[in-house]
Amino acid sequence: MSSEKSNALRFFLSPQVFSFCTSLCAPIARSIARCPATLRPKRFVHHITASINEEAAAKASATTADNDAPTIFDKIIAKEIPSTIVYEDEKVLAFRDISPQAPVHVLLIPKIRDGLTQLGKAEPRHSEILGHLLYAAKVVAEKEGIADGFRVVINNGPDACQSVYHLHLHILGGRQMKWPPG
Ligand code: AMP
Repeated sequence: MSSEKSNALRFFLSPQVFSFCTSLCAPIARSIARCPATLRPKRFVHHITASINEEAAAKASATTADNDAPTIFDKIIAKEIPSTIVYEDEKVLAFRDISPQAPVHVLLIPKIRDGLTQLGKAEPRHSEILGHLLYAAKVVAEKEGIADGFRVVINNGPDACQSVYHLHLHILGGRQMKWPPG
């Protein structure tokens, strides 16, 4: 490759150009999302608005992540709000996600949060409950009839779009999963 071409290539791959492009694209995506519905390409806008909303909600949730305030899951554990429970033992509770991303989408949580607002807060004392959660995930998958193919997801922190700060495993199945995830 000639030196002119390789200099040009280096320029286009530089961090400055990358950051310029991303700063340009984000406002454009937001403007398109704000357009009247009839003027928008639907799939694109749905994807963009959903991800902007998810990211904003995740960032907002993260600001109160460590204040020990009860979350919506405490209300579900206390049965103060309704949920569809699919499995329960003395340590964990599994219930259907209110916004399912697959034909089977179950959330599995420890009944006592004990500082586990997110996986990233795990300490050696949590090893037992973490192991129990994984085993319970397999039991739930069997009960839900998806033992042959299921996915277990833990979103950790705002960059992973975690929105509820009480450790939870998503157990997903009943459709062909794709890789890489979004
Ligand atoms: P995450 O974004 O990983 O923190 O996941 C939180 C999940 O909790 C999301 O998939 C929500 O749909 C789900 N969720 C929030 N509120 C409820 C609720 N009341 N019942 C069941 N699932 C819920």
